[in-house]
Amino acid sequence: MKILVINAGSSSLKYQLIDMDGEQVVAKGLCERVGIDGKFTHKLGDGTVVCKELEVDMPDHTTAFAQVKKALTTGEGKVINDLSEITAIGHRVVQGGSKYDRSVRIDEEVLKAVREYEVLAPLHNPACLKGIEAATETFGTEIPQVAVFDTAFHQTMPEVAYLWGLPYEYYTDYGIRRYGYHGSSHRFVSAICCELLGKPDGKGTRIITCHLGNGSSLAALKDGKVIDTTMGMTPLDGFLMGTRSGAIDPSVVTFLMEKEGLTPKQMDDVMNKKSGMLGISGVSSDDRDITAAMDEGNPRAKLAWDMRSYQILKYIGGYVAALGGLDAIVFTAGIGENQDRLRAELLEGLSYLGVKLDAEANKVRGQIQEITTPDSAVRAFVIPTNEELVIARDTKALI
Ligand code: AMP
Repeated sequence: MKILVINAGSSSLKYQLIDMDGEQVVAKGLCERVGIDGKFTHKLGDGTVVCKELEVDMPDHTTAFAQVKKALTTGEGKVINDLSEITAIGHRVVQGGSKYDRSVRIDEEVLKAVREYEVLAPLHNPACLKGIEAATETFGTEIPQVAVFDTAFHQTMPEVAYLWGLPYEYYTDYGIRRYGYHGSSHRFVSAICCELLGKPDGKGTRIITCHLGNGSSLAALKDGKVIDTTMGMTPLDGFLMGTRSGAIDPSVVTFLMEKEGLTPKQMDDVMNKKSGMLGISGVSSDDRDITAAMDEGNPRAKLAWDMRSYQILKYIGGYVAALGGLDAIVFTAGIGENQDRLRAELLEGLSYLGVKLDAEANKVRGQIQEITTPDSAVRAFVIPTNEELVIARDTKALI
């Protein structure tokens, strides 16, 4: 059985074709600058690059899908004879509101709900809908499609964790609350962590998962279920990210809007695109550039790095209190899987909990590895995430 996994952004379309017999990636790729001019990258499952940033006219998501179809069924990148070999399509959908605590098969009701939640995720949900609509146009209505929500796994949070101290009516009228994101990633790595702890059902475990990438979030899990997470109504909350500020005093927003005459959209851009590691360092949002600049003695790059570590450690301390202790901590995503320096620093910052880093084991990149010593009071693991596989597995289960 082959499943096509789609992650549609406002001007992009990422795809993976996964053969579920063995869970192998058959082909994957990316349509970029959709609606602008169009660049197309297509690779085979073994990593062979069929084309890279090829200029292809892609005025909308439907033409992007046509390009994906062409690449999968013809030429050097051909992996299937016909689209009918694809059994189902799984879509990453960013915001599923309070309604969806698991993945669902897409029907009219689901589409309506995703559309309604556009107010909570104005940048993301319209793009997800475009992806679903374009898939329907390309594949027809016969093929089953599934929505896998970024927010779903966090729906186990209690009210005390997901509400903010605003008038309660804003929650009931507008759904203003913490939803959390990266749910598929936290779910994937926490399940593996529970297995590594010898408790596959999660019962009796207290875990903190750290998804550290361009966008970053932590989740605190008790008995395998999320009780708190750093991202909020939108993916802006939490700690310093590549270009996002993370949590700030909310009054700063109104102050800056008045002082600089910024519109809500402009203020949103400042906090989402010009802040975080980029805003503080003035160098880059990319961790590799930050470490290079730090090593050259750039003080603001070092400040950005230190601020992020400080903020993460504060969240972890808070979550340890909320969990009543800690059994394991997991690092994942681009930075979490590759940046041994940050992992070492964070684990050393947790030595008060009896955490003991295994410096040799910590040199690992991109594979499952325990990085604490056998006598460490809390175990730490690197566990590579695989959100596409979560989407493919849920899709298979639902059809
Ligand atoms: P993601 O959003 O999960 O793709 O993560 C992107 C982030 O991971 C960027 O800040 C990259 O600098 C960082 N990253 C990716 N590979 C490495 C690496 N080998 N060493 C350090 N950082 C990396």
